[in-house]
Amino acid sequence: MLKKLKQQLFVSKTDIDTANTLASVISKLDQAVFPENPINQVEIYPESNNLEAYYCKDDTQYGVFAKGLANKIKYRTSSDQGLVKPGAELSIEDACLMIAAHEIRHRLQYKENIIQFSMSYAKKGPKKWYSKKTEKYFLLAFILNFCYSYFADLKQDLQDKEYSQSLIKIATSTEEFDAMVIEYYVINEAFGRFKFRLKDFTEVIRLQPPKIN
Ligand SMILES: [Zn+2]
Repeated sequence: MLKKLKQQLFVSKTDIDTANTLASVISKLDQAVFPENPINQVEIYPESNNLEAYYCKDDTQYGVFAKGLANKIKYRTSSDQGLVKPGAELSIEDACLMIAAHEIRHRLQYKENIIQFSMSYAKKGPKKWYSKKTEKYFLLAFILNFCYSYFADLKQDLQDKEYSQSLIKIATSTEEFDAMVIEYYVINEAFGRFKFRLKDFTEVIRLQPPKIN
């Protein structure tokens, strides 16, 4: 069951409300993507962490870190980068939807051995599609290009700051790249609709790279 986090020392009410919202979106989206086998446990930790949320590979729970979460989410809502509609404004719920999509994609990577989007795929795919003058994959090409440059910059930034090679490897792994592609795909799809249900994103979360030929 989803247990709501009550007021804790040193954690603001806004952080707790945001953590409860995020936990609820993760739980509902997981239920939509894995109706047969949902994870009912989203643990909310009062402390802060570099991560906003995580999927636990023992497949029993997700986690959300409350302290500082409201600011992290506010930061996400203040940027329209990676959105095909410039100037689009994200709500708190939209930002939670992105994080939830990312974590649930991690569960899918782990559970179902899907083919993942990688940086090398992102380098080839969009070029092919543009040269064929096809608009079919316009949104996907836009997102792959965005995530590719984001990851290239991130790698450089972590190297400049002299983070350890093992941390850089984890932070810029294919699993993270793939989950980011899906997170941006979901939010761009959400913006294309006047109204949506979480169930509408099941297919997008299960998206695999179209063959390049
Ligand atoms: Zn991740």
